[in-house]
Parts: sequence; C-alpha cells; structure tokens
Amino acid sequence: MEYETIIGVASGKGGTGKTTVAVNLSLHLAEQQPVTLIDLDVEEPNDNHFLHRSMAHFQDVGLLRPEVDEDSCTHCGLCAELCEFNALAVLPNQVMIFDELCHGCGLCSLACPENAITENFHKLGEVTRSDNSLSSESSIYEKNLTFYEGTLNVGEAIATPIIHELKKIAFDRKKDEQVILDLPPGSACPVVEGLSDLDFVILVTEPTPAGEHDLRIAIELVKQLELPFGIISNRSDVGDDRIIRLVKENDYPLLLEIPHDTEILHLYSRGLPLIGTTQRFNELFKRLWTNIKEGNK
Ligand code: SF4
Ligand code: SF4
Repeated sequence: MEYETIIGVASGKGGTGKTTVAVNLSLHLAEQQPVTLIDLDVEEPNDNHFLHRSMAHFQDVGLLRPEVDEDSCTHCGLCAELCEFNALAVLPNQVMIFDELCHGCGLCSLACPENAITENFHKLGEVTRSDNSLSSESSIYEKNLTFYEGTLNVGEAIATPIIHELKKIAFDRKKDEQVILDLPPGSACPVVEGLSDLDFVILVTEPTPAGEHDLRIAIELVKQLELPFGIISNRSDVGDDRIIRLVKENDYPLLLEIPHDTEILHLYSRGLPLIGTTQRFNELFKRLWTNIKEGNK
C-alpha cells in the first residue's frame, strides 16, 4: 500500500487521540512522498491547530432548499407524503418547511403538480485548502503535504453535504497521492458518509470501559461497510487489558500501542505535532505505517 489509497482515521468517541494519529501519520509520510490530509470533522476541525498552515477558501458547500409559492399551491399534500425526512407539513392553507430536516434532495420540487416549489441555495459551510505556495524556506512538510478542512457553519445541523464534497476531493487526490482522512468521532450519519468506500480504516481507542464500548460499535460499523481495519490502543498502559483481550479473542489486527507519555501531552498542549521532535515518535509512526502495509498485503 503506497499511493492510490485513502485511509480513514476514526474513533467511536472523541478524545482518543484520533487527530494526533491522523496529523502525525500524514507528516511522517510527507517526509518521503506527496500526501493529502483532509479534516472531515467538520463540526470541530482540529488538525490545523497542529499544522499551522495558512488556509484559503476552496469552495462553499450548501444545499437547495424548497420555497413554496402559496398562491400556486393547492395544498394537495403530495410533497409532504414524498419527503422521507419529514421536512414538510401541509396544512389546509399553508405548507410548513422544517429547514433543519431538509436534505435538499429536490424530490418535492420535482413532484409538485403545480410547479409551486422553487429551490434556493443555502450555504451550510465551506472547504478551505492549505496555501502551498513555496519559498526557499518551505519545509518538506509544506512541500509534500496538502491539507483540506471542512467547516460547518454554527447553528447548522446537516454535515453530510460538506463531508460528501471532501470525499470527492479525496478520490480525486488519491490518483497521485496518499490520502489520509481525519473522520468525525462517533457512528452517526457523518461518520458513515466519511467511511464509505475507503481502502483502510484505523480505529483509535483507549483501554477504558467507554473506549471499549465505543470501539465495539465502530467495529460493527466498519464490518457492515465491509472495510478492512486495524486498531490503535492509545494510552495503552493506562486502564486495563480489555482492548488486548478484545483484539486477541476476535483476531483483530492491532496496529500499534501508544503508551502514556507526558511528552505527547506537552506537545499537544502547545499545539505541536510529534513528528520532527524526537526520534522515538518518528519510529512510532514508521512502525504504524509498516503494520498498515503488512496488514494489507
Ligand atoms: S405538492 Fe405542490 S401543490 Fe401539493 S402541497 Fe406541495 S407545494 Fe402544494
Ligand atoms: S428537498 Fe427533499 S428533503 Fe427537502 S423538503 Fe423537499 S423532499 Fe424533503
């Protein structure tokens, strides 16, 4: 596994070290090859806190929301009947639209027999891209690592259209580069959208009851999507041996154990990546990449 792959870094819950893994694996690979890192955690994008790249607008993302012309509407009820998201309610004299439920599928406007529904673009958020203009001072990471970030506007409920656009970028970039996706935590719709069709998934967890519980859910999800995966146990010497037991009982691939390390916390609290600081962190991510490749032979 070298180029032409998209690897997702996921976790059943937040705070397990997913961002640390996604950012540092990307930086490790960028020492040798072109890499694209995409932050799909659009509600709380964090990767750039550790990359410090200057970002430029790439594209707005939104959806087409319906608007009803009440003068043309006969209040037949067809649009509400067809909307699978229950975003419409037809009253005798009014059509109510629940914007936060509308997924912009366009079915209601297509189906309306009176052509009473028009669609208006509604911006949900945006995608930004790292500024890769190079100077003689540019580091190997700036030369080789391209970074995209999606951001959902405050107050918006639907993240999947932004993740969908970021995935399109990922599939386009994978022709020439190794692509790493930092997925949202959890197992809801944005995660499913982010995971679909990936080549490999790294599940980051920690050896605690909550970590094991959420890891089991994440494993069920990637199995249902028929995706190959491996597990990283972070802070592996804090807590008990529950992750090791789970891995052994089910013959799951354990990619890496990252012991608790105060140096990692210090770097994290200062917004610094691990790669490029001490040799042992470089070795850690070298081992991770070797294990990913071994597991995918
Ligand atoms: S389908 Fe058209 S005419 Fe019927 S209730 Fe909806 S907007 Fe009105
Ligand atoms: S665009 Fe689709 S989701 Fe939105 S109200 Fe119409 S049918 Fe429902």
